[in-house]
Amino acid sequence: MTHTRPTWAEISRSSLIGNYRTLGQRMGPQTILLSVVKADAYGHGLACCAQALAAAGCGWFGVTSVEEGLALRRICPEARILIMSGLWPEEANTAVEHRLTPVVWEPRHVHWMEQAARSQGLSSVPVHLEIDTGMSRQGVQLGHLGTVLDSLIGASLLKLEAVMTHFHSPDEAAANVEQIRQFQAAVNAVFHSGLRPEILSAGSSTDLLHQGTLSVTNLACELGASRMLRAGLSLYGYDPCGEAEWGLHPVLQWKTRVTGLREIESGDTAGYSGTFRAGRPTRLALLPVGYADGLNRLLSNRGSVLIRGQRARIAGRISMDQTMVDVTDISGVQREDEVVLIGEQGSASVSAADLAQITGTIPYEVLCAISARVPRTMVE
Ligand SMILES: *Cc1c(COP(=O)(O)O)cnc(C)c1O
Repeated sequence: MTHTRPTWAEISRSSLIGNYRTLGQRMGPQTILLSVVKADAYGHGLACCAQALAAAGCGWFGVTSVEEGLALRRICPEARILIMSGLWPEEANTAVEHRLTPVVWEPRHVHWMEQAARSQGLSSVPVHLEIDTGMSRQGVQLGHLGTVLDSLIGASLLKLEAVMTHFHSPDEAAANVEQIRQFQAAVNAVFHSGLRPEILSAGSSTDLLHQGTLSVTNLACELGASRMLRAGLSLYGYDPCGEAEWGLHPVLQWKTRVTGLREIESGDTAGYSGTFRAGRPTRLALLPVGYADGLNRLLSNRGSVLIRGQRARIAGRISMDQTMVDVTDISGVQREDEVVLIGEQGSASVSAADLAQITGTIPYEVLCAISARVPRTMVE
């Protein structure tokens, strides 16, 4: 389908690859950088991002579900693909058939995978075991580790390739230390049981940028295992902690164009419920983008866009498909002028983190919320 409504997202290949290389340089030897491309590559478009990353040498990708894994398998026939949120019973066969590697943490996950391996005549199907070290979301709790290890030992057609965990407060050293302590205890129990995973997988963007988890790397070294880090947000150019000194570049720019202009009188209102009331003769520009495109309605009367290199405040409520901005103080605005919702124009910029701050959320959600009807185009 060709998109003719002028609202689109530009995905910068060079920024994505540059970020991947920058992050790779922060990792030590014997480390594997897994690119997290769940949720349509954090809203950036799975196909274009995964293709670019694979071409840049990325061999490991993380997705949420088997469905996402299948979509990725079509794009990257050779890549290792980690299914990070576990399996439904009927998915094990598909996972095995398409060489998707699930995270497992319950004996039933192990049984489903073992059955699927048997029915497909395979003998060394890799799985990653997740340990719950304090997130309390998924992964086996330490008290139940023995049972799942028994099931793994009994699963002769599976190979425990990695032990993983996920940190809940990577920006808080004390919480991290306690989680690492539990992870270490779990890893010791795994090795004690006779299993020999080749990879310890822990940490996300925050750990990678702020190097909060060197002790995991040391543990991996001691055990002769590789260290894996799973980076998402940083690949797309943002530090979850909001620091800017890493040489990362936002990959996504979100743009639209002025489709209409009108003058209103002092006292006139704009938008639903008349929440914008002009205090002076005001010039409004109409943009073909609304909350159905992912422009958060909480930005009504609060957010700004860039036009002609200057900031234009959103005037009134954001509608489902349209938004007005006040361009009274920007001279020469014309129909078809390019408008930046996220990105740079001249020396001005608006980031996903800026929008997140106004709406009380995180840049992750701002990026993922850009809806499917906004076409993504890859640019250099
Ligand atoms: C999403 C996710 C990551 C990536 O986190 P970022 O903060 O985006 O780097 C890593 N590991 C798991 C298990 C995840 O679900």
